[in-house]
Amino acid sequence: MRPFDYARAASSGDAVEAACGDNARFIAGGTNLLDLMKLEVMAPDKLVDINRLDLKQIAETDDGGLRIGALVTNSDCAAHARIRRDYPVLSRAILAGASGQLRNKATTGGNLCQRTRCYYFYDTAMPCNKRAPGSGCRAIGGATRLHAIFGASDQCIATYPGDMAVALSALDAQVEIEGRDGATRTVPVRDFHRLPGDTPEKDNVLENGELITAVTLPAPTGGTQIYRKVRDRASYAFALVSVAADIRMDGGTIASAALAFGGVAHKPWHDPELDQLLTGEAPSDALFDKAADLLLADATGQGGNDFKIPLLRRTLKAVLREATRTGDAA
Ligand code: SF4
Repeated sequence: MRPFDYARAASSGDAVEAACGDNARFIAGGTNLLDLMKLEVMAPDKLVDINRLDLKQIAETDDGGLRIGALVTNSDCAAHARIRRDYPVLSRAILAGASGQLRNKATTGGNLCQRTRCYYFYDTAMPCNKRAPGSGCRAIGGATRLHAIFGASDQCIATYPGDMAVALSALDAQVEIEGRDGATRTVPVRDFHRLPGDTPEKDNVLENGELITAVTLPAPTGGTQIYRKVRDRASYAFALVSVAADIRMDGGTIASAALAFGGVAHKPWHDPELDQLLTGEAPSDALFDKAADLLLADATGQGGNDFKIPLLRRTLKAVLREATRTGDAA
């Protein structure tokens, strides 16, 4: 590990100021960043410790939603009574990720900022445009089991590895961000992560020094929420594919549908046309096939991950059946 400066911030303004203009990184739980530093995949000149900031509360919002502070741990978020009752997809997605020890340290803001688990990104002997822009992409034509079927570029085919953000995308959560001079902005989770394009080194829309301060959830829809994750081991493994769903039925009709997908793109994948296609329709296998056709129309395998395309079809259909209770979720 290379030497670096360390600063402990007393306020969000201090933290932003300390992180601006340098090759600096915020550190809270450090569950991904410290590994990356030990492997010299990342070598920040400065760490700004934000653990003392007042960002550890989960509070009700005026519109019946919740505001989750950026430093709320994944364990506390998953165990929160209102989240378990009204946003079970979020609780289940968090509990489907990592291990108990990691969830006790990992935070809401840090979870959003975790980096890809592409094997070559972690191997500094390999070319990787995300780690070393312009060096090439060893994954293309290499081992691609964990890689993207949507939105990849010829620069990078990596996936965003998290579970929590997939649920937040289905719930249409918002990310609160603080920048210099107290400037704040709010970005939908669906727009927070980026596709790789020509700049795969940028995972998300955060600018230099910007700090995530909270994530807000809208009022619950009252729908059936499901998080289904398919992986190589029963625990402590990243998603091959995952589906987060929030589907509200009205009689025999789908009144609203919001779906998001993990393990398939450089960001949690959300297709508004899919939500639209399902809304107002009576559930049936024919409708679910149509939905899967729409979702997968532009899916492209990389060889080692071609199996994800039929796997995502089956997982989506199983989730839709379960959420609309039209048959066995096989
Ligand atoms: Fe690097 Fe992305 Fe290629 Fe993986 S897929 S080697 S992260 S550029």
